[in-house]
Amino acid sequence: MSTDPYPFQEISKTFEKIRGHIKSYELSDTQRVYPAIRTRLDEVRGLYLDWIDVYEEYRRGFEKANLTRALYPVARFLSSLGTGVEGSFFEVVKASVPIEVYFLVQYFYQEFKCDSNFVLAEGAEFESDTVFGEISRELERLNAPRPHGTQAETFLKKIDNDNYTKIYYDSVMFDSPLTWPLLLHEVFHDIYQKDNIASILKLPFTESWIPEVVIDLYAAMFFGPVYAVSLAKYHGRFPVRGGLLSHPSQGPRLYGLLQLLGDMTEKKRDFPETVRKIIEDSFKTVNDIWSHYRKEERDVQDRVKEVYERVRGPAAEFHKSKGLKTFEEYSKLGGESLGKDFERVASYLALGIPAAVNPRVLFNALVMSKTDPEYEYVGESLKKWRLSEIWAQIRRESQETLVS
Ligand SMILES: [Zn+2]
Repeated sequence: MSTDPYPFQEISKTFEKIRGHIKSYELSDTQRVYPAIRTRLDEVRGLYLDWIDVYEEYRRGFEKANLTRALYPVARFLSSLGTGVEGSFFEVVKASVPIEVYFLVQYFYQEFKCDSNFVLAEGAEFESDTVFGEISRELERLNAPRPHGTQAETFLKKIDNDNYTKIYYDSVMFDSPLTWPLLLHEVFHDIYQKDNIASILKLPFTESWIPEVVIDLYAAMFFGPVYAVSLAKYHGRFPVRGGLLSHPSQGPRLYGLLQLLGDMTEKKRDFPETVRKIIEDSFKTVNDIWSHYRKEERDVQDRVKEVYERVRGPAAEFHKSKGLKTFEEYSKLGGESLGKDFERVASYLALGIPAAVNPRVLFNALVMSKTDPEYEYVGESLKKWRLSEIWAQIRRESQETLVS
């Protein structure tokens, strides 16, 4: 009796099992309640099913090709695949961050007129990836000629076409709303690429971390002081010293944001009183954390300051080109009535009533809260704001029909 040295039948069964897990996974009630979010999740589920199809095609191809002994590792490799697909899918559908955080991320994309398929995913840190990127990297590890005469390439192309960006948040932070503004950093990586910000800026990109700093500054100029507070608070979890090749260490990153906050502090008379307080509180929080790193990597800190000086003008222009106001312009123009909005959030927060306000007002107002706000509260606020936006839009549209 001969045994099959390549367990291709077994591998096929495993793939089938994984396909079943992905296909039959039931979304929760909260995931299903918003049609647009349900569509996203179902579309991304489709990509993972295509992913399994790619693997099944590979398996079939190798099975036909009569593997020589030298290709034993290929069979081993194939049988180890699949767990990656399943894990990657569950990062998305089992993410524990409130579903309303999708509204926040969608708001960033919409404001900057950047169309993107995205889903939120639970991970080890704030970062982003794509489904196509993940499968491509996994396939690169396959060090054997790819089998011919299969549909694998067709399925791969489909994944590439319908690709989804996975925006990861740090799993520990799912209930820390003051870190959620960091999701904007990940969104901005997309905007940075699609709008070719690097070439607009003509910066000497001598250090590979410069885009990171540019993104921080653009994000903070849009979203306001709370962005700097987010990064500073997150720094408490990862007090990285020395930095990486791709990112400067947190000290210099915070130093860049302190320049922006410093600028705003100088112009404080132009802002409504509540906003002034938000700027001051933010400066203090960020400065306290940064001060531990004051003496470190002075050369990098100086470089970051230079980058800030160079990008603040073009960053304001970029906002204008998108029909947007920077946080500074927005809060100056809003005057005292906008100042009242910030106050209202703070008093609502004290009473535990979710406020339906724009995310820029909501999150910046949270800076004034003494303790970390309840994440359910912030989720509810985002929900109320989103619903009020939808109502306002319906009203506008019905008025337009009446007039025309
Ligand atoms: Zn980044």
